[in-house]
Amino acid sequence: MMEAPATTRLLLASCLEQGRHHIGQILLGVDFTLRHVADDDRDDLVLHTSPADARVIARYDAEGNFRPLKTAPNLKRGWLLEAGSLEGMELALEFFYPAALGMWLSHLRVKLHPTALRETLDRQTGMYRITQLIRDDQASELVARCCTSEGGCLRTILWDLAPGHPITTLPSSKLSLEELPSNRIPLLCSELCNLVVAAARPIAKGNLPKKD
Ligand code: SF4
Repeated sequence: MMEAPATTRLLLASCLEQGRHHIGQILLGVDFTLRHVADDDRDDLVLHTSPADARVIARYDAEGNFRPLKTAPNLKRGWLLEAGSLEGMELALEFFYPAALGMWLSHLRVKLHPTALRETLDRQTGMYRITQLIRDDQASELVARCCTSEGGCLRTILWDLAPGHPITTLPSSKLSLEELPSNRIPLLCSELCNLVVAAARPIAKGNLPKKD
């Protein structure tokens, strides 16, 4: 495991130095440029020079649909962001993948404490309280569908279904950083996100006893 630097900016600097130039669907240049990984060879990219433009680029997919999950593998292509400095690159990354560097730094400091799926559902209140009725097999299937890197989400999952009960419906590379390629900065998931909690609701509702 990498040593934990003092700040996310120093972490980013050491990633660039060590050749960790790939985060999510973004390629980082030592000249503080960012582009879609699939656009490495293109010379017809639309130039942006403000790190804040990352917010606009990340908002919609190529079809113009809003991207509620910034770590979904549907970042649009065709842009080049010249962030101008390490500080600018850090800011742009914060718009593309909010809190990603901070979470990794916490993980490196052994201060990121994942919350099991059951614990996240157990603390739901109001209209999401019912999600506690979802069965383990249903929850496992839901996570496999929503969190898969193939069309779902690019984060590496650090939580279990319940304490001592790991997820079994996703590949090991999705559940551990041990297989992380050396050129990658990881995107981590320390607990179930609101989108998956919301998706659990109709499934759990179906488990209510039928009324005569
Ligand atoms: S629960 Fe985590 S891995 Fe799954 S979709 Fe949400 S953020 Fe991604």
